[in-house]
Amino acid sequence: MVEKTEQKQKLGMNRRNFLKAGMAATAMGVIGAIKAPAKLANAAVPSSVNYLAPAKGQWSKLHPEHNYGGASVTFAENNDQWLGTSKLVGTVKNTNEADMGFNLARRGLISDRAHRGVYNFVPKHPQGGAISATLGFVGTEDAVDGKPAPEKLPIPDPEQMSQHIRDLAYFLRADEVGIGKMPSYAYYSHKVYPTKDLAYQPVEECVYPVTQRYPYVIVVMVDQHLETMLGSTGYDGVSASQSMRSYHATGNIAVIIAKYIRSLGYNARAHHARNYMAVMPPLILAAGLGELTRTGDCAAHPRLGFRLKVAAVTTDLPLLPNKPIDFGMLDFCRVCGKCADECPSKAITPDKDPIEYNGYLRWNSDMKKCTEFRVSNEEGSSCGRCMKVCPWNSKEDSWFHEAGLWIGSRGEANAKLLKSIDDMFGYGTEQIEKYKWWLEWPELYKIPASIPPAPAPKASPAH
Ligand code: SF4
Ligand code: SF4
Repeated sequence: MVEKTEQKQKLGMNRRNFLKAGMAATAMGVIGAIKAPAKLANAAVPSSVNYLAPAKGQWSKLHPEHNYGGASVTFAENNDQWLGTSKLVGTVKNTNEADMGFNLARRGLISDRAHRGVYNFVPKHPQGGAISATLGFVGTEDAVDGKPAPEKLPIPDPEQMSQHIRDLAYFLRADEVGIGKMPSYAYYSHKVYPTKDLAYQPVEECVYPVTQRYPYVIVVMVDQHLETMLGSTGYDGVSASQSMRSYHATGNIAVIIAKYIRSLGYNARAHHARNYMAVMPPLILAAGLGELTRTGDCAAHPRLGFRLKVAAVTTDLPLLPNKPIDFGMLDFCRVCGKCADECPSKAITPDKDPIEYNGYLRWNSDMKKCTEFRVSNEEGSSCGRCMKVCPWNSKEDSWFHEAGLWIGSRGEANAKLLKSIDDMFGYGTEQIEKYKWWLEWPELYKIPASIPPAPAPKASPAH
């Protein structure tokens, strides 16, 4: 193990020397064989490559060009046959929140280990617990939803209003933002009352049907932090903190945007990790922020990979939605499989192609295995190993990486080449010591011997 780590560190060092010494031009010879754009070939740091600009006014004043990090991006569809590059092959059924991974663990339907582990898997690292607890402050029904102001204020046309909402999200420190047509199947069929606990009460008493439907969704995205990811194994003590960092930031941004829209006289409901009424991956696709990946339902962004978390606002504010995007992720996942090789629970399928699942095509990865590992990992808190090793992230911010993304987004043959280069340089599987800034408390990482006793019952709010 030590030998393997040393080898990886050596590979990482070689890569950085390689980049610093300007020898990357040699690699560009290889890359050049796939016709690198002139902007990349001269080794400058390009802001975007092969970028298809959105229609005038479709993006933002603060970020006039959306940063896809060099990937070659085209637009896709959101209709009854496609959601971006995901093929709809039947009726997509709305999901019951009680059947989501962590809730299955709370209900004892995954394993005894998962049942015991789910109670403390985030707060067992005090830093992740602190961030998570403060997100709870904006998780109440009053924070995420409410009545709109009785009078509608005069607002700009949908195109300008969309630009304004994106600018507001960037102002509030979102890393990315998109607007989509809200897929009705992304709403939960039933939501779990925030005041009920699936561990101690029958599921029928814990859920209520979701009837709210708004036509648009605003999705805000925050990076889980590149340097931290480079220093981490992907499943050590900081893993839950990385998730919570982005959940906290996106959750607060979504709550503010929803409140703002309601004060303009329109309906708006925030969805974040402490109070969802919808599943997030289809929203990421609908808002033009990503494609599904081999991991099953995790969506990746062309620049961030899936080193991200999102929150959303569903609304009837008149907006002009973005189109979903296609940057070649599905072709890449077909030939890559690095996350499947590196997943500590073997939850990610090595199959080449997606299969039908609930009316759409996705890879047959196993949510229950993933959930069990994340809630009962005794080497840290949670897990994001797949996110770390994915060739679409875990990179220095360099022209070389941007060139790689451009290559990777151009078909299966090029994806094979990029994956080989990624492996050759040890990308994704190394831990860079200079970035390991957090403290570890391995004595806190054990899962409890039993589930805690039921807390005193709380009154449920009316819905
Ligand atoms: S989060 Fe960890 S356990 Fe889950 S799929 Fe990713 S690598 Fe596997
Ligand atoms: S590691 Fe490879 S297979 Fe897995 S999500 Fe990333 S690109 Fe796809």
